[in-house]
Amino acid sequence: MTAAASARQILTSLHEVMASRLHAQGKLDQVVDIIGECLTSEVCSIYLLREGMLELFATRGLNKSAVHVTRMAIGEGLTGTIAANVETLNLAEAKAHPDFQYRPETGEDKYHSFAGVPIVYRERAVGVLCVQHVDPRRYEEIEIEALQTTAMVLSELITNADLVDEEEALGLGAADSGPQTLSGLTLVKGLGAGIAAYHQPRVQITQVVAEDTEAERQRVYRAFDKMREQIDGLTSQSEFGVGGEHEEVLATYKMFAYDEGWSRRINEAIDSGLTAEAAIERVQQHTRMRMREIDDPLLADRMHDLEDLANRLVRIVSGQLGTAAQQGLRKDTILIARNLGPAELLEYDRRRLKGVILEEGSLTAHVVIVARAMGVPVLGRAKGSRGVIREGDEILLDATAATATVRPSVQMADAFAQRFAKSKEKQAAYAELRDVEPFTRCGTRIQVMMNAGLRDDMSNLPLTGADGVGLFRTEFQFLVSATLPQRERQLKLYRDVLDAAGDKPVIFRTVDIGGDKSVPYLASSIAENDENPAMGWRALRLALTREGLMKAQARALLEASAGRSLYVMFPMVSEVWEFDAAKQVFEEQLAFMRSKKKIVPEHIRYGAMLEVPALAEMLDLLLPRLSFLSIGTNDLTQFLFAADRGNPALAERYDWLSVPIMRFLRRVSQATVGTNVDLGVCGEMGGRRLEALALLGIGYRRLSITPASVGPIKELVRKVDLNEITQAMTGWLAEPGINLRETIAAWAAERDIEAD
Ligand code: PEP
Ligand code: MG
Repeated sequence: MTAAASARQILTSLHEVMASRLHAQGKLDQVVDIIGECLTSEVCSIYLLREGMLELFATRGLNKSAVHVTRMAIGEGLTGTIAANVETLNLAEAKAHPDFQYRPETGEDKYHSFAGVPIVYRERAVGVLCVQHVDPRRYEEIEIEALQTTAMVLSELITNADLVDEEEALGLGAADSGPQTLSGLTLVKGLGAGIAAYHQPRVQITQVVAEDTEAERQRVYRAFDKMREQIDGLTSQSEFGVGGEHEEVLATYKMFAYDEGWSRRINEAIDSGLTAEAAIERVQQHTRMRMREIDDPLLADRMHDLEDLANRLVRIVSGQLGTAAQQGLRKDTILIARNLGPAELLEYDRRRLKGVILEEGSLTAHVVIVARAMGVPVLGRAKGSRGVIREGDEILLDATAATATVRPSVQMADAFAQRFAKSKEKQAAYAELRDVEPFTRCGTRIQVMMNAGLRDDMSNLPLTGADGVGLFRTEFQFLVSATLPQRERQLKLYRDVLDAAGDKPVIFRTVDIGGDKSVPYLASSIAENDENPAMGWRALRLALTREGLMKAQARALLEASAGRSLYVMFPMVSEVWEFDAAKQVFEEQLAFMRSKKKIVPEHIRYGAMLEVPALAEMLDLLLPRLSFLSIGTNDLTQFLFAADRGNPALAERYDWLSVPIMRFLRRVSQATVGTNVDLGVCGEMGGRRLEALALLGIGYRRLSITPASVGPIKELVRKVDLNEITQAMTGWLAEPGINLRETIAAWAAERDIEAD
């Protein structure tokens, strides 16, 4: 008999038992007999979780008197280990395993070999199925697969409430694994509570045994084709993260997607009588086990990729496509993803999205900037989160403390609620500063503006009392659109934004597309093979080449500002002529409008972003051309340190608050002294209290920051004496070996200035 035929025979027999009128105990007793016979195994036992313990429910071969007597805790003995790790064990000599525990009542002392598989329900082990032999031998793959298949059938029974009633099954599920705390890196501060939802939801397999094997095979073939198509077309998508790891991950995906061995094993599993979904999962379980045995960290990373891909395949096969955003959030949610693009995040309903946990992520990646603007806390670099968090788990996210508690206990939930209340109090205190003007202790008025990018963001202007919008990222409209926004749509947005701002200024930045802000409809024109998109054909470089795009935006901005002031700023200016060329586009449109007797803006102020270090060497030429200069510290610092802002591995490596960055920024600020150029910072660092303090100490008087930081920064400003901090910074920057962050934190603490 072939392997597939014997597996099919087991499935058929199991199916008959399950369909029979036997009561639950009777079914289990028959299952252990069937498996024992098919595997010619002296012992076959089923343990199920009851009241948090694994209890022997049925056995062939062990003492029957041990049934419902032998109980193991999760993590205790071999059975408990299998359940705790949700993994298969295959041992020639059970006693040699460090977790082995002898239970005399079972009479198992004469058996040497042992193999066990978890019975999984909703990604958690709710039981264990195991076999034992007198001979010390490792089980063959086909035997392990038979066990895994049986375990899937048993779990289907649990799901269908045939064996254990639904309430108890859910209860068991909840009891099997207690709270876990994940830690990571704070990307957006804040607290949030909700249930876990994967950006790419996992599929619950509800039918294990196939009715028509050939039909299942065709489903898998079609799914493979579709998956390969998707992988081939994925190069430009952000779900793989941006920057360095992107290529590598994609290459691995491709390798697996086209791996003949993988598709063959799935086919064999289908031959044995499983549905397509169950076959994919079975093969996956098997691979997981093999990978664990190899125990190589590099392979473990690859395993993640294969898990992602298998999940994708199951989603395609089952037709359960679409992200959690597309399926709609029904409850307060904490979103889990490996990484996200800004456009993907924007698809979520802001009212329900209470937080995000990313396995990757870095402080200045645009998805994080968007989350900050949405007021959604983000925990990044939460390693292993996908292994710990299951769809629907309750999560308390404390991104401020860089932790997330999964399946919290009552005490944990209480403590969290208290922290939540405190943080709300603090926010309320900041909100009270809304109408207070930010003067320093020495009487200097600091401009505290906010960054925005969408129409909705404008409601933050009156809420925070910011002095205006210091950076309006116009490309966000492009990111959220399925097609290139035409001039009319741009015009409407800009008009709405200006209306919402009233008499407060709004600095519109022309589109900064490219880098981690890629848009599908421009993908083919944004150099596809750009190895370094952040340093590639982006922002002004792209806009000056795609002149039509820039012209349309210029017209939209000019028309929207008719009769009012227009502040326009160009991103990623690298050479002075680029500023001139961009301004020229606006001036030509202006001349055209005048020739048509259209109403034009009352004033136009042109400014540039300083994000490319080379531009700092040309300030003598540049400054006379400008009304204002805004330092984009997110990009600038990545270029100064040559450290990709989106690369998770570098997320914690370099500090903004360091001597080289501050010396550079001070040089720029000194160059503007005596000119009419209004200088500011609009990168993320200006919104952090210690960084803002340092910036005030090197001559910056205008900060444009994320709305949530406006209150905290205003409060900081009111505590600062500019002479004092300027003097201190002068001293510190002369000492190259100094740890600037620690020094400034200590200085602030002495003056009762809280850090973030
Ligand atoms: C910056 O680079 O600092 C900046 C403000 O622009 P963005 O983050 O949109 O690139
Ligand atoms: Mg930038």
